[in-house]
Amino acid sequence: MNLRKLIFTENACYKAGRKITPKGIMVHSTGANNPNLRRYVGPDDGLLGVNQYNNHWNQDRPDGRQVCVHAFIGKLKDGSIATYQTLPWNHRGWHAGGDANNTHIGFEICEDGLTDASYFNAVYKEAVELCAYLCKEYKLDPMAAGTIIGHYEGYQRGIASNHADPRHWFSRYGKSMDTFRTEVKKLLSAGEPPAGGSENTTYPEKLTTGYYRVRKTWADAKSQLGAYRILSNAKSQVDKNPGYYVFNNEGMIVYTTGSTSSPTYKEYTVVKGDSLWAIAAKLLGSGTRYTEIVKLNNLKSTIIYAGQKLKIPN
Ligand SMILES: [Zn+2]
Repeated sequence: MNLRKLIFTENACYKAGRKITPKGIMVHSTGANNPNLRRYVGPDDGLLGVNQYNNHWNQDRPDGRQVCVHAFIGKLKDGSIATYQTLPWNHRGWHAGGDANNTHIGFEICEDGLTDASYFNAVYKEAVELCAYLCKEYKLDPMAAGTIIGHYEGYQRGIASNHADPRHWFSRYGKSMDTFRTEVKKLLSAGEPPAGGSENTTYPEKLTTGYYRVRKTWADAKSQLGAYRILSNAKSQVDKNPGYYVFNNEGMIVYTTGSTSSPTYKEYTVVKGDSLWAIAAKLLGSGTRYTEIVKLNNLKSTIIYAGQKLKIPN
């Protein structure tokens, strides 16, 4: 999970300032073809990109409506997937159009044209991880009736308005709120790594589209020593140049030398609201370097908890 935070302090919902004790989570999808977080989350923090229409939800009444959710999942301007927390989790949101606002954290998954399986799989996984994180945080049982529900299930229970989200999207890819809850439960179960987690990712030796790029940081394009179709060629370039990394076309670190010339590291204690991405951005200068923290700590999941001690590379 790539959890970031941009609280909607200008939204009338935030200003209303009512608190809840979260008893569950409601999953929404936006119902509009726009997977970009910047449509809803603003202003630009450098990662979101600029919303040229300025119609994001960090304003009194977005699109003239009294609406606000606790988080959005969608694309950053570089195309990678992130979750943005947009209200404190225990703030009363305006997402359900019913009593669920008094009990449920609500988040929106940004819909695209509903035909891109890879986008769907990425945001679905992100949503599972967000729910697992919230279940830990608020001691929620994901399988308990009414705890994790889709908007349409909220309607069936009489605690939300009549919407079909996210069933119409999930069902296109053989998913449902039942599979969703099961996957949250699985992720929460001790010792079980998340399906498709970064530690399971294997990268193809030979690319047919895009390149493996050798740079100091993804943002520092000028540091690029080369772009390669063949992974082993990129790796050998990194082996010869300490401080460089192999990045895939999306800017994720694929390879580091691992030849840690300095075996020392510093320790960091996770505080509430931290994400691996944010810690890497803060301490290592680049969010994409969170993979180094995952590796160094042998993490089985990108979910971290307040109080957890992490080794941070020097
Ligand atoms: Zn909804």
